[in-house]
Amino acid sequence: MFTFGVDYYPEHWPEERRAEDARLMAEAGFNLVRLAEFAWSRLEPREGVFDFEWLDRAIAILAGHDIQVVLGTPTASPPPWLMDRSAELFLVREDGRRATFGNRREYCPNNPVYHDYTRRIVTQMAEHYAGCPSVVGWQIDNEFGARCFCPICRTAFQEWLRRRYGSLDELNTRWGAVFWSHEYTGWEQIPVPVETGGSPNPGLALDFYRFASDSYVDYQRMQVDILREKCPDHFVAHNFMGFGYDRIDYFDLARDLDLVAWDIYPRGFWDVRAEVEPSGAALSADTMRGLKHQNFWAMEQQAGPSGWETVGGTPRPGELRLWAYQSIAHGADAVVFFRWRTCRFGTEAYWHGLLDHHGIPGRRYEEIRRMGAEIKRIGEQIHGAAIKPEVAMALSYESRFAFQIQPGHPQFSYAEHFRHIYRALHGRNVPVDVVAPTDDLSSYSLVIAPALHVLSEADVGNLARFVEAGGVLVVTSRTGVKDEHNAVVNQRLPGLLAELCGVVVEEYDALPEGECNELEFVCPGLAGRDASASIWCDVLNSTGATVVARYAQSYYAGEPAIALNEVGAGRVVYVGTFGDAILWSTLVDWLIALAGVKPLLAAPEGVEVTERWQRDRRLLFVLNHTAEEQEVVLDTAGVNLLDGGSVVEGAVAIAPRDVLVILEEQQEEEII
Ligand SMILES: [Zn+2]
Repeated sequence: MFTFGVDYYPEHWPEERRAEDARLMAEAGFNLVRLAEFAWSRLEPREGVFDFEWLDRAIAILAGHDIQVVLGTPTASPPPWLMDRSAELFLVREDGRRATFGNRREYCPNNPVYHDYTRRIVTQMAEHYAGCPSVVGWQIDNEFGARCFCPICRTAFQEWLRRRYGSLDELNTRWGAVFWSHEYTGWEQIPVPVETGGSPNPGLALDFYRFASDSYVDYQRMQVDILREKCPDHFVAHNFMGFGYDRIDYFDLARDLDLVAWDIYPRGFWDVRAEVEPSGAALSADTMRGLKHQNFWAMEQQAGPSGWETVGGTPRPGELRLWAYQSIAHGADAVVFFRWRTCRFGTEAYWHGLLDHHGIPGRRYEEIRRMGAEIKRIGEQIHGAAIKPEVAMALSYESRFAFQIQPGHPQFSYAEHFRHIYRALHGRNVPVDVVAPTDDLSSYSLVIAPALHVLSEADVGNLARFVEAGGVLVVTSRTGVKDEHNAVVNQRLPGLLAELCGVVVEEYDALPEGECNELEFVCPGLAGRDASASIWCDVLNSTGATVVARYAQSYYAGEPAIALNEVGAGRVVYVGTFGDAILWSTLVDWLIALAGVKPLLAAPEGVEVTERWQRDRRLLFVLNHTAEEQEVVLDTAGVNLLDGGSVVEGAVAIAPRDVLVILEEQQEEEII
């Protein structure tokens, strides 16, 4: 069954309304709601006093319409009676200031008292709902994040370091603590890198960021263990925040879960976006799918204009349905909209649901009701279908953390660099998996690993195996600069990857803001193309690689900027600059040709094409993100599942913000 649902807060509305809500939900085709993830003050109104009756009644009404339930554990928003117990329950922010009550996510993830109350509410809920036939799964907490710098975390960090290093001698050596006389003689002396401490030792800061990430992984595991023991038939998930969130290693956070769920708002919330860039949600979806190499849930799919103090742009007619299909096109096996009805009060009074404050169905509800009818018809044909890209991009949270400490250039952003490359692939309708550098790469033809700054022997071994087996690997500037302790390597760059790349970095040059260095391409297939280096220039010396491009300006004019190394059956391309959209647009055409990767379909700008595979049958998704009718030339015949009409090879028109879901014609089996 394809899950099609909505996030619902019955506790925000009079009980008499619930029957009407359930009826309207069923009419919209919803078969699931998420409930209770912010309802701690109703579930445990006073310490040790639990009340599930109101929730039972809400679930019963929904069950009457065959609507199943995912329950949230309510730990993201503790009630005042709990937080009033001690100031130590509140996290301390990076600026050294302690959070106060009144928002959400105020708690310290390492506070043992908070852990006790967490275990109790989660156990009570799990025991109460283990046998409830409507409940199918759990979402733990809500959108984990925010590093805590409190004294409890500091002590826990010192313990974490003791386990990691064993001795202070080892820690002092790895961090280079001799610098500025930071050599520690007691574990209790080790600080946390608050802003008021100035620019910290990079080794200390990277370890603290790892520890802060582990803190949430461990806190989540505590809840996972309870739910698995009490509710063995239910799945356990958490709602992640896409590619953009960079304070937790999402590969680690996903490991203990049955599935990854994701919250997606393409039209933004803090900023009012005139244009929605389709590659933004696409990259997040591909990242979410990559965390466990399996399909994911869209747990909060945008349902209206979003915002707290201010209101983000209103989704245009057709966009909610289009974005929901975009999630599906990238591997969602469930779409759950956030949220049912816009709340009249609270911080999120302007975070709109499908229904406005007044609760009367309007344009957005009708749009999703139409989609609900489609999903009822076609969901089974889509559910579970796999995505099999030939291209992967390696995402390193370790490197991302290290760049938060020392970006190396004020204009450098790891995420933006990653997006530039992804956007070029997305614009050509080349499917991409986002993977960890140590994941199995054997199914890919092309792997792009942007700025793998912190590089381990394991990363290098994995990349080398991929290349030796015939793959094309692309690495970029600032790769291999740091060891696992965030100290600069004692080798010529790109350090552990220098041999594989066939180049060494003789010098590097950080360019002033806005300044470029023209590139002169000297290899066939690229000669004559215009592109430039920006932000950073590695001046390369080939130790075996063929020069692809040279710098045209500055004292290093004529020196190599990009080089290609043949290694066994494979090739490695070193790109010695970050560059801009034009550079990556140019390079991606060349790289996919080099790796023998074929884009799915040529399509006009703003028309996205993806494919999913139901066993050996291909589902082609064509999404028109523009406000005009567009035309694509199909290379296949099949059935458009959405209207049941056949499509044949050749030109087909797509209405503004519309979608085609084409099930390819079954190929006749060859007679042997
Ligand atoms: Zn803390």
